[in-house]
Amino acid sequence: MDKVIITAALTGALTPKEKVPSIPLTPEEIAEDAFRCYKAGAAVVHLHMRDDEGLGTMDKEKFKKTVALIKEKCDLVINLTTSGDSRATDEERMAHLPEIKPEMASFDAGSFNWMPGGVFMNTPKFLEKLGMVMQENNIKPELEIFDSGMIHITEYYLKKGVLKAPLHYQFVLGVLGGAEATVENLIHLKSKIPADATWSALGIGKDHLPILYAAIALGGHVRVGLEDNIYYAKNRLATNEELVQRAARLVYEANKKPATPDEAREILGLKK
Ligand code: ZN
Repeated sequence: MDKVIITAALTGALTPKEKVPSIPLTPEEIAEDAFRCYKAGAAVVHLHMRDDEGLGTMDKEKFKKTVALIKEKCDLVINLTTSGDSRATDEERMAHLPEIKPEMASFDAGSFNWMPGGVFMNTPKFLEKLGMVMQENNIKPELEIFDSGMIHITEYYLKKGVLKAPLHYQFVLGVLGGAEATVENLIHLKSKIPADATWSALGIGKDHLPILYAAIALGGHVRVGLEDNIYYAKNRLATNEELVQRAARLVYEANKKPATPDEAREILGLKK
């Protein structure tokens, strides 16, 4: 494939502004940063919201406002988190989906100890309901995979009709509690998914670079951004725009091209 979808994960639920001054937290800041990333070559933005204290929140109104501001500026594919606040109930985690109907949303395909903070809880009941809500609202699940057993779970839901082919995977490597961010692990995970599936990958922290290079080399798509990694180089904080710019340069150097939002829609089978 010569088109590579660059997803920008702008904010996340955790990174504090005191540590990373450039991280966008308000709807206005997120929309402006999304537009900068769009101009730098991103086709998809993965969004989290923060409350007034800077903590992750599933506040529907904040999601709505941010998405509206982004849509005023550009046609980026919008991917909303369903894991933006560890205190939220199952219902709160998906309440924004039917109202906003984003083209994509995250589907974290299992639970594990997210060290050292706590248990990242995605119960069978939650996932089944989430899959059905996404189907009813024409939202493509981005299947976030932290370890190989989670691919098995997605196969189970595919058989049950909770997920529909073709599937799209996001391999999240390097979380303490999930698979380590190694090229070997990426190759293994990629070998386990259905033949008609598409995939993307990211590494956490300094491991974002080997995973970025490997994903491009292996024919996958990529995700970068301050949600996953805050440094551009050792002791040098990054901005989202810079991380997307670097990913786009690497894509060009591999004789490929960053996908436009519409090309990403075609690759992922989205209905605009
Ligand atoms: Zn996220």
